[in-house]
Amino acid sequence: MRIRTIQAKSILTPQKRGFLTAGERPYSHSLSWAAGCGYGKLYCGAFCYARTLPNWYFARRPGEGWGEALIVKENAPELLAAQLARARNRRGMRIFMSPVTDPYQPIERKLRLTRRCLEVFARYDDLDLLLIQTRAPDALDDLDLMARIPYVWLGMTIETDRGDLPYGPSQAQVERRLTAVRQAVERGVKAQIAVSPCLPYSPDFARRLLETGAQRIVIDTFAIGDGSGGRRTGSSPFAALADYDWHDDSIAESLYHQLNAYHDGVAWSGPGFAGIPARPAIEP
Ligand code: SF4
Repeated sequence: MRIRTIQAKSILTPQKRGFLTAGERPYSHSLSWAAGCGYGKLYCGAFCYARTLPNWYFARRPGEGWGEALIVKENAPELLAAQLARARNRRGMRIFMSPVTDPYQPIERKLRLTRRCLEVFARYDDLDLLLIQTRAPDALDDLDLMARIPYVWLGMTIETDRGDLPYGPSQAQVERRLTAVRQAVERGVKAQIAVSPCLPYSPDFARRLLETGAQRIVIDTFAIGDGSGGRRTGSSPFAALADYDWHDDSIAESLYHQLNAYHDGVAWSGPGFAGIPARPAIEP
């Protein structure tokens, strides 16, 4: 993995269209401090839609494959501090961190860029939402800090509870993510599980998701969630590995209905992601 650092000009990207704006409560901005992903050679790199996006395409060097380089905006916390300080409508800000990479990169243990961004957010109590979307239980390192920011939600991706799939997470990874959600909820940090994309799962999956106590669970599919009607997935390395019909949304729909019978925070695909309720009005 090659790490290159750059000085960026801005860190909050306004959102006008796409899945972050597809629901009733759209995100106003995204925040990504890196292009590329240190987990790109793991299972999820095989179906990751971020590998097809322009920010990676234009940042990489010729010949660099997904998971081989990370381009880091090392001044992200300073840029964030400046952008939040001069924001005219912080109360309306709904930020998704991060749509094109994972904010808990392996190098985060050394760089602490996500942590330093959280320290900037902790200076303000008046934003509407910050969703920290990750697959990495390393997010627990920052749970104390998250608990101090009243608009933070931890988003944890858990695609399945099966650890035996050749194209899915290990059983240990599944268990750590479920535990991370439980611990976040116990600490008072709101949590949203993203079953995204929904992979084949065991009969216990719905129960195990419910037992975490997550306030919201969003289900998504390859065909809907890859932003291209399945075209990106069809041309990804995952398509050659999959031993089931990933075009068939019925396994995801079945999970949705199982969960929906017991939990009123279950949502579907893009409108679900962009559906976290607004914070109650702050009393003057
Ligand atoms: S962690 Fe996220 S961004 Fe990184 S390869 Fe996996 S799906 Fe893509």
